[in-house]
Amino acid sequence: AEANVGVVGLAAMGGSLARNLAHHGNTVAVYNRSYGRTEKLIAEHGSEGEFRPAETLEEFVASLTKPRTAIIMVKAGEPTDRMIDALADLMEPGDIIVDAGNAYFPDTIRREKAIRARGLHFVGCGVSGGEEGALRGPSMMPGGTEESWTTLKPIFESIAAKAEGEPCVTHIGADGAGHFVKMVHNGIEYSDMQLIAESYDLMRRGLGLEPAEIGDVFEQWNATELDSYLIEITAEVLHQVDKKTGKPLVDVIVDHAGMKGTGTWTVQSALDLAVPVTGIGEAVFARGLSSQTELRDEAVKRGFAGPDGSLNVAEADRQAFIDDIRQALYASKIVAYAQGFNEITAAAKEHDWDIDLAAVARIWRGGCIIRAKFLNRISDAFESGEANVSLLFAPYFKEAIENAQAAWRRVVARAAEYGVPTPVFASSLSYFDGLRSKRLPAALIQGQRDFFGAHTYGRIDAPGVFHTLWATEDREEIEA
Ligand code: NDP
Repeated sequence: AEANVGVVGLAAMGGSLARNLAHHGNTVAVYNRSYGRTEKLIAEHGSEGEFRPAETLEEFVASLTKPRTAIIMVKAGEPTDRMIDALADLMEPGDIIVDAGNAYFPDTIRREKAIRARGLHFVGCGVSGGEEGALRGPSMMPGGTEESWTTLKPIFESIAAKAEGEPCVTHIGADGAGHFVKMVHNGIEYSDMQLIAESYDLMRRGLGLEPAEIGDVFEQWNATELDSYLIEITAEVLHQVDKKTGKPLVDVIVDHAGMKGTGTWTVQSALDLAVPVTGIGEAVFARGLSSQTELRDEAVKRGFAGPDGSLNVAEADRQAFIDDIRQALYASKIVAYAQGFNEITAAAKEHDWDIDLAAVARIWRGGCIIRAKFLNRISDAFESGEANVSLLFAPYFKEAIENAQAAWRRVVARAAEYGVPTPVFASSLSYFDGLRSKRLPAALIQGQRDFFGAHTYGRIDAPGVFHTLWATEDREEIEA
């Protein structure tokens, strides 16, 4: 045995990860269900480092040094379950099975429990950055035991992306913590993308700019506090001209946004935890609406009366409005991140995970899809303890949102008046206003609940629980 790590599943992600491992001095055992894929990897990339191809899983396990470390990168769901079982049958107590695929965290919790009962370590590891990231350096979010982390740390640090010299990987917490944090990362990615799309729509329909002109705007924004991978690639997409028609590519792409589930999981988990993640939620729903083809076609056919989305901004005020959109985007983005981190905090409490939020922000600075300059500010805010309750309370972000506020309101108000949908801009602003309201209309809701369901209420001027006898004539209040 001479391989210090092995990869099972050599499709796009696993193949790239195996090569990345080999590039960094690891001796990598590789196995794939169909051997052809293994042979192809060795034929095309065998010279890039030390690979130990195995035709059978038995050979694969035998080629690993102890404690054996096997990273699974096969199709999510059932195939992953089967591969975990097959490996566990061949491995020994103390060995480590890593699932680096996109698993739903309750599955990871279940798998960890089952594998731990057999004396082995199971690590669910979130990996972000797609195929390119897997090859050149992803952001990695491993869960599992501290003990397994001791073995995995040098291996993962060798292949993770680097941000300001630091590897973008940290031990997130026990069992499903890594996959949970990766899930929220994806949820935040949904809101980031939707916010960019809303900004684009406001400039395109609202101001009548051409895609390439909007691409230029995003390029400029990438030199501000919005500096990020998603803003950068947005500029490139908007500058792309369709080879076939000569039109802007974005104009010939069907406007139905797809999704594979992680955004939905983020919202489902948030609902279970009763944490409002309105930015992520609206982003998932916006993709949903985009894909409801029949409903949209029918609505357009019926020709609802209303403004057409032109924002009626005078030529002389256009630049100022574009700047307002930038500020609205920034403020909404801060809200979405604050909500995402709140969800992680709530889950950590629920599942007893000891998650260092500053470290999470730090490992998102490189390799992953939401990598952005402002994650430095976020990690500072958690590091200092200023963001413990909400990111919005850290002085840097409080000031940023206060400064952006007037522009944010102008954009949401104008979009509403002239008919451009801005679900994440608008819902983030509502969240912010709800948060800073001394009193909410929830008092009325409590009154309604007490009326129809005797659900009781508290009083602002006395301790205890109260109920009004609504059905009686004098509607007296009693202590419940
Ligand atoms: P796929 O999800 O397309 O899965 C293909 C691989 O799974 C092949 O190696 C295939 O083997 C193997 N496989 C499928 N069924 C079985 C089975 N029953 N038993 C054994 N092996 C099986 O591969 P990807 O590389 O796209 O993704 C791998 C994982 O990474 C998935 O969990 C996916 O969700 C995740 N992923 C993550 C991304 C990210 O950005 N983090 C991006 C894309 C994927 P064979 O060659 O024999 O068919």
